[in-house]
Amino acid sequence: MTANKTLQTTLIHHDYEPPQGFGAFPPAIHHASTVLFDNVAALRSGDWKDKTGYTYGLHGTPTTFTLEAKLAAIEGGTHCLLAPSGLSAITMVDLGLLKAGDDVLLPDNVYHPSRVLGNWLQQSMGITARYYDPLIGAGIAALIRPETKLVWTEAPGSVTMEVPDLPAICAAARARGVPVALDNTWSAGVALRAFELGVDIVVQALTKYQSGGADVLMGAVIVRDVALHDKLALSHMRLGLGVGADDAYLVMRGLPTLKLRFDAHDAGARTVATWLKARPEIARVLHPAFEDCPGHATWRRDFTGAGGLFSVLFDARYGEAQTDRFVDSLKLFKIGYSWGGPNSLCVPYRMQGMRSGWDAAGTLVRFNVGLEDPADLIADIEQALAALAY
Ligand SMILES: *Cc1c(COP(=O)(O)O)cnc(C)c1O
Repeated sequence: MTANKTLQTTLIHHDYEPPQGFGAFPPAIHHASTVLFDNVAALRSGDWKDKTGYTYGLHGTPTTFTLEAKLAAIEGGTHCLLAPSGLSAITMVDLGLLKAGDDVLLPDNVYHPSRVLGNWLQQSMGITARYYDPLIGAGIAALIRPETKLVWTEAPGSVTMEVPDLPAICAAARARGVPVALDNTWSAGVALRAFELGVDIVVQALTKYQSGGADVLMGAVIVRDVALHDKLALSHMRLGLGVGADDAYLVMRGLPTLKLRFDAHDAGARTVATWLKARPEIARVLHPAFEDCPGHATWRRDFTGAGGLFSVLFDARYGEAQTDRFVDSLKLFKIGYSWGGPNSLCVPYRMQGMRSGWDAAGTLVRFNVGLEDPADLIADIEQALAALAY
């Protein structure tokens, strides 16, 4: 057959098929925009929502379906949808469940870009976005209105690390028929059984621990309810949220070591945070496993571990210029956003304007403890603390 074609066509059409029966641990990586149908009837019967078949690369391949199934299993859910970033996974939820006239509740310590999105929904789309005290617990019942269609939670919240009472919030929302979404990135799904606490929708920024390499951006939305999944799948489809096959593979490659890495980050972070807590330069350690963290008792009740991420408040006698010099003096801790990779990171935050209810004195600095030897990280912090004196 090949012999009858011109070279140009032969470059594109080739009949070779490799032998069947190849076995290996890594799953195959399927690259595709076009997915082929055997005949017109198969093309006409294709359903992009139904993962029993394939219609188009954007709507799923064996590679993305496999990653979705693995992530759903880790979280204890049944359905998962991938998105090209953690933030686009959050967007999928907001635009899938909210319409003009609706109301959404977000914790005051929500991941900041999620707050920027909430403000945009309010300004441009006729949706009300209100922010609540993350430690509100059952008190959230008083904030739920007939038009409230979604409650966001984050455990612990970004940067300031307050741990919310998820069972109390979920029970109050469930009594009013309002779904609760949890940004569960901090626990990677390995240190918190979100669905068992009553959460309806779990979001993960796979960019962090699941990838583990600081080299991929990806997000996931996981649920246990088919009707909810169908709504979110429609949002996923409308927004065109595809992920690349190679990126999906990179995340899959990180999963077998997810818990081992998470536990190593956890141990390293507790060692570094314990050392910092004893230092006179540090006023408070905002790490859920430490008593000075708001919601510590809730963390002890609901979580089985912590990650590499925590914040500290420097003593109020140090101004921003001094704490900036501290951060600039660090050598192993690099300055940059995100976490979950092997490298330790540090970010100073200006809290003014980030929270409606934050009045603690002292500069806040967030540490992400990577996988380096904690003793070396402590030595790095110790030499950088000397810069505070000048
Ligand atoms: C990083 C992060 C996100 C967003 O993930 P990206 O992939 O960077 O968009 C969302 N929520 C939390 C809590 C995060 O830390």
